[in-house]
Order: sequence, then structure tokens, then C-alpha cells
Amino acid sequence: MNVFVVNCGSSSLKYQLINSDTEEVIAKGLCERIGIDGRLTHKPTGKEQVVKEVAMPDHKSAVSYVLEELTDPTAGVIKDLSEIDAVGHRIVHGGEKFAQSVVITDDVMKAIEECNDLAPLHNPANLIGISACKALMPEVPMVAVFDTAFHQTMPKKAYLYGLPYEYYEDYKIRKYGFHGTSHSFVSKRLLQIIGKENGDSKVIICHLGNGSSITAVQNGKSVDTSMGFTPLDGLIMGTRSGSIDPAVVQYIAGKKDYTIDEVLNVLNKQSGVEGISGVSSDFRDLDAASMEGNERATVALDMFAYRAAQYIGSYVAAMNGVDAIAFTAGIGENNFKVRKAICDYLGYLGITIDEQANAVRGEEIRLSTEDSKVAVYVIPTNEELAIARETVALVG
Ligand code: AMP
Repeated sequence: MNVFVVNCGSSSLKYQLINSDTEEVIAKGLCERIGIDGRLTHKPTGKEQVVKEVAMPDHKSAVSYVLEELTDPTAGVIKDLSEIDAVGHRIVHGGEKFAQSVVITDDVMKAIEECNDLAPLHNPANLIGISACKALMPEVPMVAVFDTAFHQTMPKKAYLYGLPYEYYEDYKIRKYGFHGTSHSFVSKRLLQIIGKENGDSKVIICHLGNGSSITAVQNGKSVDTSMGFTPLDGLIMGTRSGSIDPAVVQYIAGKKDYTIDEVLNVLNKQSGVEGISGVSSDFRDLDAASMEGNERATVALDMFAYRAAQYIGSYVAAMNGVDAIAFTAGIGENNFKVRKAICDYLGYLGITIDEQANAVRGEEIRLSTEDSKVAVYVIPTNEELAIARETVALVG
């Protein structure tokens, strides 16, 4: 079965065509600057990459260009659209309405729209992506896979905030958590590796990328996670502040004469390791600057590892133990210094790391030594494959 996986942003569209039997990527690519001008980068596996500047006034035209490339007589990978058996859409926010992936119907689209308020930048774009694909492939079954769904198993004590209860009832203010597709994919693989797919298990997944979150997974279910009502909460990230005292918002607004929206923009886009270091949000740049003696880059890296170790510690307490920990995403898969810095805080758990194994990048590997009391792994995430698998499970 060929599954077309679509991830729509407000001005972008990432896609992969995946053969779900072999789990191989047949082609992948990206449409950028939708609604501005338009640029398509298409990578058919085993063929030359195609880059085209083409007018993309809207998402429908972007999808249309992608489908043209997929079926192009030379650069294409399929003969015609009948070779696309299903479409899997990444949807950012499912609120409390979706605890798992669903086949997309008109009612489902309405329910996603009702969550727009909770993710005003993302859900409308996701819905536009669905409509664009439906218009061009009306007969093809489509599935919605939510970033929030995996975390719907969190207990009330973990997801409620210490606010008046009616704010939860009236406005749905609570912790939702994100990166759910990745946390689900990596935790399933980790449980497979440690042979605890069906038994009692306690694992912690560290998704460390430009956006970062850590999740406590007990018996295969998310029981707590570091992102909250929005992805701004929790860890210090590339440009996001992570958790701060909420009173700081008012204080910045007063000092800088900013509106709340402007302060939120600072917390989302000018903070995190970039804001602290003044260097970059990219950990490769931070490592280089730190090596050259840049103290703010060094403190940004220290803060990142410290906060991550604090979350891991709190989740060990929440679950009363941990069997294994996995690192994933850009930093988690590639940055051995960050992994080492985090694990150095975890000696009290009896964790010891094999430095040689930790030098490996971007591959599934066990980092912990044989005698480490807790197993530590790198497990590359693959959100597109996870979406393809969910899609096949529902319409295959
Ligand atoms: P992500 O958001 O998952 O793409 O992660 C982005 C972060 O991962 C950046 O801070 C990069 O420094 C880091 N990263 C991604 N790829 C690599 C790589 N090959 N080597 C080192 N760091 C990487």
C-alpha cells in the first residue's frame, strides 16, 4: 500500500510517499513559501532531486504540483494517482476530542476545526491541507494523526493546572502535550528492545530537537509530559523559553511596553538557547561557540542539560522508577555532548554510559554499559513512518 503523508504548516507542506509494506520512502519533499511565491523541492528515491520555483497561491496548488511531480513521466515515482492508496495527515491539536488517530469524515473535520482555538497557527493550516488533498483525490481514504493524542492518557493530577477549575471546564485550559507521534513511536520501539511490550514498564522519552519535550511512559501510556497547553512549556528549547514564572510576562510587558502578544512572541521566538547565548538556536553553532570560549553559549548548553535532567528526575519520581530512557530527534540522535551532560546528572539512578557507544550519531544504539541499572538508548524518531503505520492500521 502507498501512503501519502502530509504535514501542512501555514506556508509550507512537507510530504512523503511511503510504501507501507516495505516501509520505504518512495519520494519526499517540501513546498515552501505557499501564498507568497512558491518553491518545491522534490526528492524521488534513487532519482535526481528536483527544485522548482512555481507560483503556489494556496495549499491546493501546492498539493497539485506535488502530485504532478509524483506522476511525472521522468522525475515521477508512480504512474498515476490510483497508486496512492491512502493519505495520512499530521494534525497538531486534537484537544480532548481525539485520543487516537481517526479516519477523516466531515464530522472529524468539524471537530478539528473546533480545536482551532487551541492551535490557531497550526490547525487551520492542517485543515486546509486536508481540503486540498480531498479536492484532488476525492476517493482516497484519509486519516488524521494528532500530535496531542498520545498524551490523552495522562491522569488529571498531571494535566490540570493549579487554576480555578472552571477555567478547565469552560476554556479547556490544561496540559495537552505535543510530539505525541514521536513519543509513541520511540516508546513502542524502546519497549520492544527491552522486551517489555506487554509487561509492566516505566520508560522516559527525551525528544530533543529545535522543539523539545520529555515524556514519562508507564505500561506504554503517556502519564506526563513536559510541554503543556502549548509547546512553549517545559524544557528550554532552540528559541522557546520553556517554563518560566508567569508573572515575568507582565513584568516584561511593563518594562518593554509590549503587548501580551509581543511578549509571547519573545518567549516563543527570541528566547531559549538562542536568546541566552545570543549565538544561535542550533546546537552545532552553540557547541562551536562554547569551544571557542563563549561563556553565554556554555551556560545555554548547561541550562538545557540541567532542565532536561530535572524533568527526567521528576518523571522517575512520578513513576516511582524507570527501566529505560531513550534520546531522539535532531539533538537527541546526534549530539553526544548533550546526551553525556544529561546522563552525568543521572548517576544517582545507577546510570553509566559507554563513551564509545555515545560517540555514534543518528543510529539506534544502546549507550549505557552492561552494568548500568537503567538502560539508555538512542532511537531515531520517524514521525512520517509512524503516520503511515497509523493510516494503514485504520484503512489498510
Ligand atoms: P530537529 O528540530 O529535530 O530537526 O533538531 C534540530 C537540532 O538538532 C539542531 O539544534 C541541530 O544542532 C541538531 N542536529 C540536527 N542534525 C544534526 C547532526 N547531523 N549533527 C549534529 N546536530 C544535529
